[in-house]
Amino acid sequence: MPELALYAVDDGNSRGRTHAEPRPKARSEFQRDRDRIVHSTAFRRLEYKTQVFVNHEGDLFRTRLTHSIEVAQIARSVARTLRLNDDLAEAIALAHDLGHTPFGHAGQEALNECMRGHGGFEHNLQSLRIVERLEERYGAFDGLNLMFETREGILKHCSPARARELGDLGRRFLEGRRPSLEAQICNLADEIAYNNHDVDDGLRSGVLTLEQLQEISLFARHAAEVDAEFPRIAGRRRVHETIRRMIDAQVTDLLAESTRRIAEAAPASLTDVHTAPELIGFTAAMKEENHALKSFLREHLYRHFEVLRMTAKARRVIQDLFGAFVADPRLLPPQYQAMAAAGSIERATADYIAGMTDRYSMKEHRRLFAVSEF
Ligand code: MG
Repeated sequence: MPELALYAVDDGNSRGRTHAEPRPKARSEFQRDRDRIVHSTAFRRLEYKTQVFVNHEGDLFRTRLTHSIEVAQIARSVARTLRLNDDLAEAIALAHDLGHTPFGHAGQEALNECMRGHGGFEHNLQSLRIVERLEERYGAFDGLNLMFETREGILKHCSPARARELGDLGRRFLEGRRPSLEAQICNLADEIAYNNHDVDDGLRSGVLTLEQLQEISLFARHAAEVDAEFPRIAGRRRVHETIRRMIDAQVTDLLAESTRRIAEAAPASLTDVHTAPELIGFTAAMKEENHALKSFLREHLYRHFEVLRMTAKARRVIQDLFGAFVADPRLLPPQYQAMAAAGSIERATADYIAGMTDRYSMKEHRRLFAVSEF
């Protein structure tokens, strides 16, 4: 393996763990972080959480789990090529969506509304809360006791008010410092993964059509390339061959532009990365194409009536559950009652609901509201 760049995060320049632990024997510290994330309860639940399409709508759609694995794959390749710490990139990618509620963004918006006046709800902060507090796996500490840089990468954004509460981890938002390049990579790997897999899932579901996608240059020019190379290609194979090339074009662009920016800024250490301008990014042309694709998806996929029906229902499920538990905390499972007693009923309820999978939340809803089910 090539040596890491001077400005990569490694075990030696890391700010380490909150609770001191002996060094791992046969792994690096960041490999240990990745392994802890994979073994966590929250990670397994991602399998049954919505990305765009509700989990039970079809076996072939992305879930939060397969999305996270795709992000990790892209992040690893980019990090490795740039001689950055790919284990850290993988750990951040696998953990970045742990805090997602059931039913994707609809669930998060509904829970955030329920939590208005009680500190709000934000999936990004919830991912951090899971790895710092909510996972119960170790005798010596709450959470997973991950390395500082892994947690820093999970916390993509944060309001100034919240940053002040977060101490060390929040300081960079107040001081305008950048996270590691590995964290910056995960951010864009996330974007590449969901833009492309949402095109695939959108087509598979029939919500998007190939005709509509012709207005998207990123899709149209790669589809034309595929047709020229394989004149008889059709159906799923044509879609996959096109999307494959779209991902490749985005990753290639990201690598070239980031390499150029790194060469220009010439960081000599991790500290230089924190104060440099954003070193990981697309060219202006690719950024524009991505933006067009995103707007297209917003208009034609995320706001499609069938998707909106699902989100309206998701909203009701979350609101009903939240209302029922807050009105009568005795309905919560005992460990959440204990959390409510130690903190607030609203936060304990939000933790409980956020941890639910799509199908578990629907089951809880039936248990609490369906007269035919007890
Ligand atoms: Mg994501």
